[in-house]
Amino acid sequence: MADLPPIREVIKRHGLAASKALGQNFLLDEQLLARIAALPGDLTGESVLEVGPGPGGLTRALLRAGAKVTAIEMDRRCLPALAELGEAFPGQLTVIEGDALKLDHATLMHGAPFHVASNLPYNVGTALFVKWLSGEAWPPQWRSLTLMFQREVADRIVAAPGSDAYGRLAVLAQWRADAALAMKVHRSAFTPPPKVMSAIVHVTPADMPETVSARMLERLTEAAFGQRRKMLRQSLKGVPGALDALAVLGIDETRRAETLGVADFVALARALDQNRHAG
Ligand code: SAM
Repeated sequence: MADLPPIREVIKRHGLAASKALGQNFLLDEQLLARIAALPGDLTGESVLEVGPGPGGLTRALLRAGAKVTAIEMDRRCLPALAELGEAFPGQLTVIEGDALKLDHATLMHGAPFHVASNLPYNVGTALFVKWLSGEAWPPQWRSLTLMFQREVADRIVAAPGSDAYGRLAVLAQWRADAALAMKVHRSAFTPPPKVMSAIVHVTPADMPETVSARMLERLTEAAFGQRRKMLRQSLKGVPGALDALAVLGIDETRRAETLGVADFVALARALDQNRHAG
């Protein structure tokens, strides 16, 4: 196994002072990083997409786990440190300088299956998560997502109906995927420490309920949770056919969005899809 200097030293030698604008909070504890890299399962020979490698802490843990890593980094100051890491693991690391929100990940990964592992920059984390989960094609090209979020966002992703955290993110994450809170990470694990606690969410694709369009589900959850304190008969008024569909499915229109299970939203979306195709 490659003998590498501690990450703290890499940061110092390359002058990588954390940039607030780029959402930089680095992880330096190699034991913690190895535990994160183990969450997707055995990565020997597997392709992994990492967003925001920074000085390369998680990257080196993924490489040590035997993965072939493609890493997208926006901060060009980090590139020399990542190039050094690539030399220590010949043929295993490809670094792409760019904005992960603007790149087509499937093309980058040559159309082959891949895992995603990332200590995401908080400001782009949710946007990327939505992008990975809202494609019409299912199963997606990714086999698993292992992602660091602010604790509050992680709670929203895995939330159960009836809780305050339950909303669009929970439905999006759970209607055709399994999402679990895999690890809580204390703010003191980061340099510099962020203001809030973090947690890692692990997501794997599940079977897709037949004939439901992701777009219809998004439209429904946007309307329903956009006015989450209102009754469904009010919040879904603007979605054509929705009130009839509630009646057909036997869902009381005086209920509020947060009381509906993920399967209820899927059934509603399916009914509306069918109406649209019939009409
Ligand atoms: N993975 C490293 C770690 O765990 O120590 C760094 C994590 S730091 C929270 C987030 C990293 O994402 C930074 O290196 C930052 O430069 C990079 N980044 C921020 N926005 C990005 C974007 N849109 N695309 C790619 N990388 C981005």
